Amino acid sequence: MRSFRIPVVCLTTALSAASLGAQQRVAVPAARLEGLKREAIADVDSRAKFTQQMVDQIFSFGELGFQEVETSKFIVKILRDNGFTVEEGVAGIPTAWVATWGSGKPVIAIGSDIDGIPQASQKPAVACHAPLVPGAPGHGEGHNTGQPVNVTAVLAVKKIMEREKLPGTIKVWPGVAEEQLASKAYLVRAGVFKDVDVALFSHVSANLSTGWGPGGGSGLVSVMYSFEGQAAHAAGAPWRGRSALDAVELMNVGWNYRREHLRLQQRSHYVIPDGGDQPNVVPTTASVWYYFRELTYPQIKAMWAIGDSVAAGAAMMTGTKLVESRVLGSAWPQHFNKPIAEAMFANIKQVGLPKWSEADQTLAKAVQKEMGSREEGMPSRVDSTIAPEPEGRNMGGGSDDIGDVSWNVPTVTLRYPSNIPGLPGHHWSSAIASATPIAHKGATAGAKAMAATILDIVAKPALVDSAWSYFRKVQTKDVKYEPLMRPNERPATFLNTDILEKYRPQMRRFYYDPSRFGTYLEQLGIQYPTLRKSKDKCEETPAVP
Ligand SMILES: [Zn+2]
Repeated sequence: MRSFRIPVVCLTTALSAASLGAQQRVAVPAARLEGLKREAIADVDSRAKFTQQMVDQIFSFGELGFQEVETSKFIVKILRDNGFTVEEGVAGIPTAWVATWGSGKPVIAIGSDIDGIPQASQKPAVACHAPLVPGAPGHGEGHNTGQPVNVTAVLAVKKIMEREKLPGTIKVWPGVAEEQLASKAYLVRAGVFKDVDVALFSHVSANLSTGWGPGGGSGLVSVMYSFEGQAAHAAGAPWRGRSALDAVELMNVGWNYRREHLRLQQRSHYVIPDGGDQPNVVPTTASVWYYFRELTYPQIKAMWAIGDSVAAGAAMMTGTKLVESRVLGSAWPQHFNKPIAEAMFANIKQVGLPKWSEADQTLAKAVQKEMGSREEGMPSRVDSTIAPEPEGRNMGGGSDDIGDVSWNVPTVTLRYPSNIPGLPGHHWSSAIASATPIAHKGATAGAKAMAATILDIVAKPALVDSAWSYFRKVQTKDVKYEPLMRPNERPATFLNTDILEKYRPQMRRFYYDPSRFGTYLEQLGIQYPTLRKSKDKCEETPAVP
């Protein structure tokens, strides 16, 4: 490795090229890099108000997968105003976009999910069930905090890269419809990560952490089975009818028997989006939506094939027709990059956890009590586990379609402490902290670790090389990525349209207005924290503010 002064070097820094050739890759001396990281971390701190406003704004939109219209418009505007070029409607998904700034190598793609959970509407900071709009969706996982982490981090890093004239390209992108595992494989297929060197992902958690190797949890395929029968008067001429709902019910019965004889690591669950219209009409159409979760691509495919055979059997038994099944989403099991995770973990240790106030701890413990969890409050120590579980110990669990990205480019997920530990997840209780100082401080801590890690990647070409070496020689040595969705499948962008059509007018009344209110809690007139009124009553005045 030869060193020389590059012509564009600015006067305040001494930079050296780490490798030659067509790519101009610049290594920043270690001491100088540490100084730049400290500066980025201080800069993220100075943007805490901006981060808080983003967290609160996206929380107030509370949009479900594929309907993240306001959320995407809001983030895209911020990125455009800050010099990013934004391509919208990426991969045929109206709410997906890629915002690009900078030039040359390395190319870093920074993403986070943006969608919410059905029926999770909740007043922030109120430690019991108090929906803002009853029945409406909300951020019952805390996905409202991820883009604020990323955007804050990239703005701090961009400032330094501009001044130092550091080459590198930053791409910011959203995880659309993550709850349906329904967009990232399509982003991969559309080539969004084709020239990317490293993908960094952020996800809400109750601690500041990262990890490498198989991330635990499962991959999955999400399949809608639709049956077609024949209508008839359900009392007058039932023998002339063929019930599509019968096929759905028999498929579920068949699956529930069959799953006793599947691997213990599998997870499968279903809902019935169409069960017919009314009892006196034999249902012509009915459909059932399955998630089949397993630990590896071949195991997911095998499980899916069993699902197909059970569906075919149900159609045969009922004299109905199985209409071609549709893949609504898919996710490869996740696998994260060791060298990048180690670099991120060093930054995490430097950043440390936020200082939780007494009010933060009171809210956390009250919510834990409400949910029957251990009343441990917020964590006081950084999660120090970074190595994967020993092989054979993963018993499956949740999924994130960042898995698909992770098999195409070295990828790492940063988990940041914007939520309360010990909650059931996908539930209104996970929305309680999501627009409070817990979420705000956790997002700022996350943005610091993210900014420092982006700088590592920009400033250390050798880190990118070792990331790819791990990716090629270890991770993908015996595993080849193939998407789970079929070549003719398209993103299921129709999902959740009806729910947002129904609730958006009421939800709009609660959109956060930062020009009038410092915080969303201030706008809602909610005291921090607000505890349960009595044993039988959550709030004094449950009426909407
Ligand atoms: Zn998530």
